[in-house]
Amino acid sequence: MLIKTAEFVKSSEKWQNCPEPNLPEYAFIGRSNVGKSSLINALMNRKDLAKTSQTPGKTQLINHFLVNGEWYLTDLPGYGYARVSKSSRKDFEKLITNYILNRKNLVNLFVLVDSRHSPQKIDLEFIEWCGENSIPFSIVFTKSDKLKPKETATKVEDYKAELLKTWEDLPETYLTSAEKKTGGDEILNFIEKTNDF
Ligand code: GDP
Repeated sequence: MLIKTAEFVKSSEKWQNCPEPNLPEYAFIGRSNVGKSSLINALMNRKDLAKTSQTPGKTQLINHFLVNGEWYLTDLPGYGYARVSKSSRKDFEKLITNYILNRKNLVNLFVLVDSRHSPQKIDLEFIEWCGENSIPFSIVFTKSDKLKPKETATKVEDYKAELLKTWEDLPETYLTSAEKKTGGDEILNFIEKTNDF
């Protein structure tokens, strides 16, 4: 898919304030620092459409971008900040889960995980929650340029093996590098194929 236009639409504090759900929507989520903003910018071929890492503790917002005037790309706040209070973590979980459960036009959720890391509890729990709630999602391995290709491949295989302990089938997976601009086309192809509303 050729990205002709990508424009910021609005930031919302809760799902009720998000734009009218009249276009297909694709959301991106992951632990803070996973490389979400970098991947979104690489996909959109822009330098700073998505702002890199928001400061922990600041208001967490759902950011909507309109792409080619045809679909929404949603940048969800990163989860897994170590230094936030229990109550703000709960509020934050509510913000995300309410958005995911209630957003009628959400076609797919891209769950980002760092390709260098072994499966992290918080990611596995989140993926499990998606499954329990029948949320359509894919897993995007980020920063694939950081390790040698062979090491990355082993990490990804280990990750899949971990998922297969609880899942019968694997979700769609993507291997990406925002740095090298690889893997993005596969994501955009998937969006192109599925955004026929
Ligand atoms: P976010 O918090 O998930 O939005 O993560 P950012 O996009 O801000 O990225 C966090 C850090 O990882 C930054 O220092 C990025 O430059 C770096 N980073 C993100 N993606 C890549 C990648 O594909 N390759 C490499 N080598 N570094 C990356």
